[in-house]
Amino acid sequence: MDSDRQHCDTSNGYVHLQNPHLKSMTSDFLYHFNLGTATHDLPAMFGDVKFVVVGGSATRMGKFARYIHQELGLPESEEPQDLADTDRYGMFKAGPVLSVSHGMGMPSMSIMLNELLKLLYHARCSNVVMFRMGTSGGLGLEPGTVVISKAAVDACFRPKYTQIVLGQEISRPTELDQGLVDELLHVAAQEEGLTTVAGNTMCANGFYEEQGRLDGAFCDYTEQDKLQYLQKGRDAGVRNIEMESLCFAALCKNAGVKAGVVCVTLVDRLRGDQVTTPHDTLKEWELRPQKLLAKFIRSRLGMK
Ligand code: URA
Repeated sequence: MDSDRQHCDTSNGYVHLQNPHLKSMTSDFLYHFNLGTATHDLPAMFGDVKFVVVGGSATRMGKFARYIHQELGLPESEEPQDLADTDRYGMFKAGPVLSVSHGMGMPSMSIMLNELLKLLYHARCSNVVMFRMGTSGGLGLEPGTVVISKAAVDACFRPKYTQIVLGQEISRPTELDQGLVDELLHVAAQEEGLTTVAGNTMCANGFYEEQGRLDGAFCDYTEQDKLQYLQKGRDAGVRNIEMESLCFAALCKNAGVKAGVVCVTLVDRLRGDQVTTPHDTLKEWELRPQKLLAKFIRSRLGMK
């Protein structure tokens, strides 16, 4: 591994990893991607990456990469392939855009993101912007609305990601880059038929009880308790609920990487729990964050 660590200085736009032990490793194997510094030329493979977009499913992230490939008018010979040779995560590259899946929930996101941030670091990528795009439950919003997150908050509405490390709780801040929020809102305003709002995103550790649902296998609270809780969240600025943004926001921030979260809402949780919208409509809604990010990337690259 390169002993010149200049590229870990956050002021120069490189990814800033706060782990002194990395310096003494002769090589680094990114197990869940099956990529490594000893086996792959990471700077040659990934050094030109400027945008990283992460989302839950590998299939969806493959489709997104092919969509971006088209949007950027890249040559057919560069059709995105899965670069992660494992079935844990999918990783596809379309020019300067890297599209990576993270699975469901924060443990899966955390594992992927530790290795992805190291990959960007080893590849000496600079001035990278990262996005999580996905689906969510809305709070008082018409389903299909796209929420651009100002901050990720935990299930007590606090902007912090808490981990247990060596038996101790450590917390990291989870506010997102406000410049990116404004830029995304500006780009969204030019997209016809897209309803977009900015607000806080609550990140829960589960889909059912942790999001106050009444339709899980277990429930020890009343509908009134549920609505009181969700309304408290809405009053605290929460506009949608999902399961990964807290970890994503905290780890990107800690690595000095600008990050944004863009999720479409599938259901208004103040009105119900089940996602019963027809499949075709859901498919169209899922494309909304993709279209917004494609437009953002094109705009950043000076394309109309
Ligand atoms: N994803 C979630 O985490 N919650 C929802 O309600 C919908 C999608």
